[in-house]
Amino acid sequence: MGGLSMHSTVRCLKAPQAVLFLLLMLPALLAGCGGATFPENEKDDSMISKQEKPGNPYYSRTDTTTLDLPDSVWAKVLTKEVYRVARQKETEQAFSGKFLDFEGRGSYFCAACGNALFRSDAKFADTCGWPSFFEPVREKSIFYQPDTSHGLVRTEVICGRCGAHLGHVFDDGPPPTGKRFCMNSIVLDFEPDGE
Ligand SMILES: [Zn+2]
Repeated sequence: MGGLSMHSTVRCLKAPQAVLFLLLMLPALLAGCGGATFPENEKDDSMISKQEKPGNPYYSRTDTTTLDLPDSVWAKVLTKEVYRVARQKETEQAFSGKFLDFEGRGSYFCAACGNALFRSDAKFADTCGWPSFFEPVREKSIFYQPDTSHGLVRTEVICGRCGAHLGHVFDDGPPPTGKRFCMNSIVLDFEPDGE
């Protein structure tokens, strides 16, 4: 009988011990999960963007329908950083953009609406401090409008689909066009060519 009661005591202790073990291990297990998914998150933050943007129903890489939406709508669907350049026409700091020295082969899209803008073939190394291209992927990808802000006479480049401010174009680019499309990285998405 004594042996049996000892055994029962040990069995009774086992359950709380198991719970304690799990409680102690929980943070370690959770940390392990975080560690395992970290490279995946890191990849999302890289140059490569996704074809869809959660929270932005207007974003499409295939729909070319022109969008005419008020800033109040864009303010809700764009990140603060993209909104400031795309809708408030701010310019990102020189030499700060993620695509400045980027040499990946693929296509660049409007970060606000997904409209195809440039091919990597048209990108060239420039010293101006912003990613530069010598031609858009197709004529209607972008629109132009005169910009006389900051006491300068420049030509503003806007997205042909959503009207987002992208940057400016100058006449000191390389052949074959002689144009320099000086773009803000923050309003560009990049997708590499498939194999
Ligand atoms: Zn756009």
